[in-house]
Amino acid sequence: MTTPATLFIDGAWVPASDGGTREIRNPADGELVAVVSEATAQDTGKAIAAARSAFDRGEWAAVPAPERGDFLLRVAAELKARKADFAHAETLDTGKRLVESEIDMDDIAACFTYFGKIAGQNAGRIVDAGNPEVVSRIEYEPVGVCGLIAPWNYPLLQAAWKIAPALAAGCTFVLKPSELTPSTSILMMKVLEDLGLPRGTANLVLGAGAVAGAPLAESPDVDLVSFTGGVATGKTIAAAAAGTVKKVALELGGKNPNVVFADADFDAALDNALNAAFVHSGQVCSAGARLIVEEPIAERFTAELVSRAEQIRMGGPFDETAETGPLISEAHRDKVTAYVKKAQEEGARLRCGGTWGTGELEKGYYYAPTVLDNVKRGSSALLDEAFGPVVTVETFNGEDEAVALANDTSYGLAGAVWSSDAGKTQRVARRLRHGTIWINDFHPYLPQAEWGGFGISGVGRELGPTGLGEYQEAKHIYQNINPQVTGWFTDHGKV
Ligand code: NAD
Repeated sequence: MTTPATLFIDGAWVPASDGGTREIRNPADGELVAVVSEATAQDTGKAIAAARSAFDRGEWAAVPAPERGDFLLRVAAELKARKADFAHAETLDTGKRLVESEIDMDDIAACFTYFGKIAGQNAGRIVDAGNPEVVSRIEYEPVGVCGLIAPWNYPLLQAAWKIAPALAAGCTFVLKPSELTPSTSILMMKVLEDLGLPRGTANLVLGAGAVAGAPLAESPDVDLVSFTGGVATGKTIAAAAAGTVKKVALELGGKNPNVVFADADFDAALDNALNAAFVHSGQVCSAGARLIVEEPIAERFTAELVSRAEQIRMGGPFDETAETGPLISEAHRDKVTAYVKKAQEEGARLRCGGTWGTGELEKGYYYAPTVLDNVKRGSSALLDEAFGPVVTVETFNGEDEAVALANDTSYGLAGAVWSSDAGKTQRVARRLRHGTIWINDFHPYLPQAEWGGFGISGVGRELGPTGLGEYQEAKHIYQNINPQVTGWFTDHGKV
C-alpha cells in the first residue's frame, strides 16, 4: 500500500513526516472510507512556517480586496459544480444523511458567495480628527497567519465559516479539521489549489488535536486561532494562545432553550421541537436540547412529542427512508449513553429512547431519539451538553419564569420562542442571553447574520460583517499636513 499524501503544505501534497496514517471509517456501518496522513507536531510547524512565509511575502494580501472576493465567488461556483462529490464525501465521514450533506454544501457555497461579495466593502474610513491640518483614516489589514480548527459535526461548513473570511481579508492559514472527518477539507484544498491560490496561502494538516492542532494555538508565528468545538478544548486552546497573546475566536457548545408558550401554533411548535432536538441526531451545537413548555399545554405537548419521537426512523445515510443517522463514534455514543443514565439516576424520567440501534444498525453507532422529563433544576441533564438525540422537558407559567429557565445555563449560543403574541415573543427574545434567538422557528442561520455565543458558548462572532472583522486589524493612519514646532521641551514646559 502506498503512503497517503494528504497534508497540503506550502503548495504540495505530502505524507506525514513519520509516515503516520489514520483510517477513516463510516460511523453508519464501520466501513473503511479512507486512509489519510496523520500529521506530527513538526508537520504542523512546517505548515505554520509556510503560511508565515506566504503572508510575509504578501502576495495574497496584495491582491485587491474585490479580486479576492471574485476568487471566493469562483470557489462557490466550483462547490456548486462538484456538490455531489463533496456531499458524498461528507456523508461517508460523518454518517449523516446524504440530503443533509447536500444542504450543507449549498450553505457552504452561500458562505463563500457572501464573503466574496463583501470582501471589498470594508476598505476603511475617514476619521474626523477635529483639526483641518490633520488627515486621519482607519485601514483594515489582514490579521496575518490564522490557525483554523474545526469539529466533526459540520466538518466543511464550520471550516468554511473560517476559510472564506480569512481569504477575503487577505490572511494565510493552516486548517486542522477533526481527525474523524478530514475528507471534504482535502477536497476543498484541491479546489483552492486548482483555482491558483498563491503557494502557502492555504495549508492543511490532519490528525489528533493535541498533536497536530496544539501548535496552532502555541506558535508565536500564528496571529489568530479560530476554534470551533467543545468547551474543554476551547479552554485549553485559549490558555495555550495566551502564551503568545494571539487573537482567539471560540465557537463552543450550547444548551439551547426552546420555549413554547401555550398560545403558540401547536403543530408548528411540535414539529419544530422534533427538528430542533433530533436533526443530525442532535449533534448540532444549536440543538434545541431543552424544551421549555407552558403548563396548560405541557402534558399534551410532551405526549405528542414522545409519540412522534418514537416513530423517527434511524438508518444509514443512503437509505432514503431513514430520517436520522448514527452518532459519530463508539466513544461518543458511550458519552450520550452515560449522560442519559446519569440523568435517570438524578431523577429524570425516560419517556422514550435511551436505546441503541438493533439488527442491521448494530454495525453503526445509532442511538434512538430520547425524551426525558421530570428533570430537576440544577441537575446535570439540564446543565451539560449531551450532543446527541436527547431532549429534556421543563414546564413554566408566564414570561418571567420562561426567561428565568431559559437563561439558567452557563451556555448562551441560541434559543427559540414560540407564541402567537408578537409583543410577547419580542419581549422574551430581548431578555434571553443567547447569541441567536429564533421566533416561531428553529435552526435557520444566515451567512449575513452574526453567529456566536454568550457565556461559555464562545468568544467572538462568525459570519456577517463581524465575521470578516475577526480576520482584520484596524490600523489608524494619522497625518499632520502642516507640522509645527511644539515647543514642549524647548521652553521649560511653558507651552
Ligand atoms: P472537540 O473540542 O473535541 O474538537 C474540535 C477540534 O479541536 C478537532 O479538530 C480536534 O482535533 C481539535 N483539538 C482537540 N484538542 C486540541 C488541542 N489541544 N489543540 C488544538 N486542537 C485540538 O469538539 P468536537 O467533538 O469535534 O465537536 C463537538 C463540539 O463542537 C460540541 O461541543 C459542539 O457544541 C461544538 N460546536 C460548536 C459550534 C458553534 O458554532 N458554536 C459548531 C459546531 C460544533
